Amino acid sequence: MSQHVLITGANRGLGLEYVRQYLADDWQVTAACRQPEKAHDLNALAASASDRLTVQPLDVTDDRQIDNLRASVAATPVDVLINNAGIFGQTRGGFGATDYAAWQQAFQVNVMAVMRMMEVFADAVAASRHKTIVNMTSKMGSIADNGSGGMVVYRSTKAALNAATVSAAIDLKPRDIRVVALHPGWVRTDMGGPNALIDAAESVTGMRRVIAELTTAQSGAFLDYKGQTVPW
Ligand code: NDP
Repeated sequence: MSQHVLITGANRGLGLEYVRQYLADDWQVTAACRQPEKAHDLNALAASASDRLTVQPLDVTDDRQIDNLRASVAATPVDVLINNAGIFGQTRGGFGATDYAAWQQAFQVNVMAVMRMMEVFADAVAASRHKTIVNMTSKMGSIADNGSGGMVVYRSTKAALNAATVSAAIDLKPRDIRVVALHPGWVRTDMGGPNALIDAAESVTGMRRVIAELTTAQSGAFLDYKGQTVPW
């Protein structure tokens, strides 16, 4: 039986590229996104690979939709769960102009939703061969790497996600599940912008290699798309 990957925020950017590459590699893919009816790229892929690609509705902040997704995946083990959906939160205004509502929303999406996905899908991951959870984080969540300040909303949510990732790695170790925080590089997507250094294909090619080669000893690590350790 082919392996199964579940990807959140799969309608554009890195999520969509993960879908493309895993499909090309003969995986079974569950692609979750907020508005499947508007996910034209995903639907085009489903039209050509419909037996291996399932598109499911998921706003990651909606607990009921997470439960429904779990029910629809049913008894199919999830080899790799990729918690990819994320938001930048606040794009303008530095110290003194913090947008607290945006901060709260970013915590919901970037941190709490990922924790809930891990809790709800842990059994399905434990039942698989690969037993891997990937949380898409950012080098901007590295406290050690913060030499320029600002962007407190995005930085703090990714730092919190990193903390949750390490705890989950420890908590899920007895079930043989590997959990990793993965930085994709600075990538040309809607979030990364046109000046970013690499394209989504290069980033996802690298991350898929890191995921495929992930060892039990690396569970709880903070790695980039080349497999290099990022300082906390
Ligand atoms: P994009 O902004 O291009 O795409 C974000 C994706 O997340 C979209 O599919 C979006 O869906 C989805 N999303 C946002 N909020 C929700 C929600 N509430 N429920 C479900 N889906 C949601 O970002 P990237 O592809 O660039 O980034 C993917 C991940 O990689 C993110 O976690 C990001 O933080 C991280 N990252 C990206 C970097 C880069 O340089 N691009 C660098 C470091 C980390 P919708 O279309 O419905 O809005």
